[in-house]
Amino acid sequence: MTDRTPFAAEPTDAVERRSTKPVVVYPNGTLVAPDLDRLRKARETLEKVGEVIVPPRDGRAFTVPKGHFFRVVGIEGPQVGDLNLWNANDLNERFFSGKTRALHATHLSVGDRLWSTLPSLRPMATITHDTLGWYGWDDDGAGVHDVIGTRCDPYTNRLLSGGDYHNCCHSNLCRALSSARGMSFGEAEPHVHDVLNVFMCTGFTKDTHQYFMKASPVRPGDYLEFFAEIDLLGALSACPGGDCGRSHSSDVAACYPLKVEVFRPDTDLLSDWPFPDRNGYVSPV
Ligand SMILES: [Zn+2]
Repeated sequence: MTDRTPFAAEPTDAVERRSTKPVVVYPNGTLVAPDLDRLRKARETLEKVGEVIVPPRDGRAFTVPKGHFFRVVGIEGPQVGDLNLWNANDLNERFFSGKTRALHATHLSVGDRLWSTLPSLRPMATITHDTLGWYGWDDDGAGVHDVIGTRCDPYTNRLLSGGDYHNCCHSNLCRALSSARGMSFGEAEPHVHDVLNVFMCTGFTKDTHQYFMKASPVRPGDYLEFFAEIDLLGALSACPGGDCGRSHSSDVAACYPLKVEVFRPDTDLLSDWPFPDRNGYVSPV
């Protein structure tokens, strides 16, 4: 654990230095907001065109054409899902969890967007519905759907426990991408990236600012819904932590499947939707 014992005396102006006012790095209102009214009208016309069941402690891939919607749905019990997204036509463009966190917040909900990696940096998907939107921030400072955790992985598990576990979300996502694209595990692994932790309930402890998790409030029937701004390849892992209320990287927790549903709207309603191009910045050298 970090040792924050002060090894040097505070300067005489320590109070003054600490009293500067925080400034939001990327203030609200500086991003062009998605037209949620139009998306709400479009989602009234949804027709289901695909479904994938993700087994417990496993992963599955799915595709979503640009202009379609998809949902991650809890179906049998409280279960957290780790989501990866790629440009279906270019795996080098993938979800950028850190920039999404900086642009929006530590946890996402309706109106927030999932941004892609540099140099593309454009919205890959926009969140259009969240049945857990009521949760907000609880007394522990926790929220749901975080972009602060990375994904459980066998390397950290080995580091911390000395043991090997083969169904971490990282491995599940690697296998899902591997089977979707006919790659070996080793070819797929570098494409797997930090996730959106769908349904996961997390925060930072107030005293030590450490990342914590608590049992997810998700129940069967809850879902998080996205609008695909580009052609998407997705992969979802049903985390071995189940509701992530106690443990992960083991077979101890109760674990349930998740469902991914893909929907086509009445495309006439979105015929002139401003689908995003890759970011236009070009370095002069
Ligand atoms: Zn996990």
